[in-house]
Amino acid sequence: MPVNYIVLAIPVFFVLIALELVITRVLEKDYYRLSDSLNDLACGILQQLLEVFVKTALFAGYLHLYRYRVLDVPSASVAAWVLCFLGVDFLYYWFHRLSHEVNAFWAAHVVHHQSEDYNLAVALRQGAFQGWFSWFFYLPLALIGFPPLMFLAVSSMNTLYQFWIHTRTIGRLGPLEWVLNTPSNHRVHHGRNPKYIDRNHGGTLIVWDRLFGTYQEEQEEPVYGITSPLQSWNPVWANLHYWVELWRTAKRTRRLADRLRLLVKPPGWQPEELGGFQPAPDVDAATYRKWDTPVPRWLALYGFVQFTLALLAAALLLFRQGVLSRAWLAAGAVFIAVSLVALGGLFERKRWATPLEAARLVALAGFFFVACGSDRAPQPRGEFLVAVDRETFVLRATDPETIRLATENFRARNAMFPLGPLRPGNGGFNAPWSWHFDPDRVRMTEIAIEVCDGRPSYVEEQLQDFLAGYCPWGARVVGVR
Ligand SMILES: [Zn+2]
Ligand SMILES: [Zn+2]
Repeated sequence: MPVNYIVLAIPVFFVLIALELVITRVLEKDYYRLSDSLNDLACGILQQLLEVFVKTALFAGYLHLYRYRVLDVPSASVAAWVLCFLGVDFLYYWFHRLSHEVNAFWAAHVVHHQSEDYNLAVALRQGAFQGWFSWFFYLPLALIGFPPLMFLAVSSMNTLYQFWIHTRTIGRLGPLEWVLNTPSNHRVHHGRNPKYIDRNHGGTLIVWDRLFGTYQEEQEEPVYGITSPLQSWNPVWANLHYWVELWRTAKRTRRLADRLRLLVKPPGWQPEELGGFQPAPDVDAATYRKWDTPVPRWLALYGFVQFTLALLAAALLLFRQGVLSRAWLAAGAVFIAVSLVALGGLFERKRWATPLEAARLVALAGFFFVACGSDRAPQPRGEFLVAVDRETFVLRATDPETIRLATENFRARNAMFPLGPLRPGNGGFNAPWSWHFDPDRVRMTEIAIEVCDGRPSYVEEQLQDFLAGYCPWGARVVGVR
């Protein structure tokens, strides 16, 4: 799978957040609150974890349409990259604008706007279901013929660009405000003041807003957040609450047509019998109080430490997604999600939070106990777990030399395995697919690769690449059975 630039940038995000924290301390500003920032990061973690499971599926549409492309846009051309950038930014504008103007899209995007603070941590606060609502906006680029890797790189850069603009420490930037999405322009976007609502949807460029009439200059500093504040530190609820709100409105709606209309109408829309459209209420910055919960010092420290551990676990999972099996990935993701919910609950002093936290710690201790107990040296019997990209296969080798190579590879801690050129085989070992190595190129003679979960695999989907002469991702032996 191509590089995930967002995951690679995680350390840089945290360095910059630390820098902004230091600056706010020096300036004696209250731009950060612990509970709110941890909740931002928890939402970001959930989004990244879910993406591990769905990103291939979400990208499949692009790959599929790319086969019917009109042009062959050359990857080496600078003009092509510039055009791809303009295309991505333009389509992002429409995706983002509709995310604010259509209820069903807003339900996925609202997460990014729930924080009542505005700082670099808010940039990482993203809706877990956001990707499900954005992928189809970019399909025209596939049909035109922008190569998938070029598209992925450019759209990642578009996302990365938007990190630095989530800050109150940078003022206005003169003529740049005309062309670029800047901190000032994006502060407006996060405002809940009626005049700031649904303004400045641009990603990197702000010219789209100026062209299509959604631009608003920053006047007084906005009051940040959404018009009905979330009032919760639960990152799962953050992703679900607007769906539940829509469901409740739908239940009170008499006509079926109105229920369907509710999904495509802008936020605030209601059928006539419920009082019609509810415009955004006015808000007074001088008297407005952000929602908060009192957190004693010991709990803040405990929550911070536990959260840091959950964050490290999530980072480990993301960096190791290529070598972990789906079952382990899923188990890890669920455990991290439960941890984040428990920590949010503790900060809200919810009654269920302490038992949940205790159960979580017991489960964690049990896991380590079992993991340490089964620390035996592996005995190779010709069966290996091989990771190709992020899928794991059972590799059964019949040739002693293959067994020796694979064992050596495993002992050398996941060095690249010489998978070599593949060609279709006759099947065997109940394997859905089987390949043989070309004996002229590689010393291995017969290997069957079986997909563990029995579902169509990434390797199968990319068969052309594999058969074209080499395995583009390489393979690593991650276990011996
Ligand atoms: Zn937005
Ligand atoms: Zn934002």
